[in-house]
Amino acid sequence: MKHYPINRVSIVIPVYNEEQSLPELLRRTEAACAQLAQPAEIILVDDGSRDESAEILLQASQRQGSPFVAVILNRNYGQHAAIMAGFGQCKGDLVITLDADLQNPPEEIPRLVKLAEQGYDVIGTVRGNRQDSALRRWPSKLINLAVQRSTGVAMTDYGCMLRAYRRSIVDAMLACSERSTFIPILANSFARHTTEIVVTHAEREHGESKYSAMKLINLMFDLVTCMTTTPLRLLSIIGFSMAFLGVAFASLLIVLRLIFGAPWAGHGTFVLFAVLFVFTGGQFIGMGLLGEYLGRMYSDVRARPRFFIEKVVRGTSATPAASKADSPAPLFNKVAP
Ligand code: UDP
Ligand code: MG
Repeated sequence: MKHYPINRVSIVIPVYNEEQSLPELLRRTEAACAQLAQPAEIILVDDGSRDESAEILLQASQRQGSPFVAVILNRNYGQHAAIMAGFGQCKGDLVITLDADLQNPPEEIPRLVKLAEQGYDVIGTVRGNRQDSALRRWPSKLINLAVQRSTGVAMTDYGCMLRAYRRSIVDAMLACSERSTFIPILANSFARHTTEIVVTHAEREHGESKYSAMKLINLMFDLVTCMTTTPLRLLSIIGFSMAFLGVAFASLLIVLRLIFGAPWAGHGTFVLFAVLFVFTGGQFIGMGLLGEYLGRMYSDVRARPRFFIEKVVRGTSATPAASKADSPAPLFNKVAP
């Protein structure tokens, strides 16, 4: 089998109020990276945490010869925006993303690197023994099914963020200027060779899921609208069928009225009510969906930066992101590939 060498590995970890998990995360991730043949950098993106997370990250990155890079966002932009911010700062040929809550074991990193050397662009993971509540599991099942149906990309688990991407894929993602992104699906739209491995999934030990029901719904809409406009087309098809059925039903009512006379039609009033409700329901679903797309277009047209980095700390020196001498580091996310 052909060998596709990897010279440098970057790990990107979004962190939001994870001060309790951080010490163990840093220790285990550093140990996993030490096993690699390649040099590795570990980019920790603080997504506007309100606890001590940012301080812990800064301390870790300031240590002598530290593999950690702390990227501090000025407020909370969400997991996927934080990962994008990390992508913008990393330099490796292979970029591995990971959750900070230790539900994805960092010990799997060497395995992902080995697989990437076999030439895969994107390596996904499947949670072998999922440790989330049923309430959290069912929406993901639904999502996975919908993604598979509409994109045709054969991956079984999109919820697990322990994933590896080749540099080319990361550059392609950075070149995308849309604001609502769902990284695993965005990556798959640029990937050629993909594969999946089964990993263990641990229970969250500290704190709780950072996704509230509302955030989850938001993510679900991000996911649907980022991968396809099929719902829009489906909407017109449903609309047409409903209109056709409505006309057919109205004709039937008229015919029956002519045959059985006015008293019968009077009794049919409630049927008309029922029909009306179906129609209004359909219209509301349609408008809601249209609104979702329009809302996203609106925010894309405004072209606001997806995030704003307060500072980046590498090794022992603390410099603001904008004043890097070697590369005029972009302050915003509009990074050319
Ligand atoms: N996260 C983030 N910003 C957010 C929410 C979450 O950076 O607004 C990070 C969080 O710190 C964790 C990862 O995203 O590293 C996944 O979050 P969580 O474990 O809460 O999600 P779940 O496992 O419930 O899907
Ligand atoms: Mg988690």
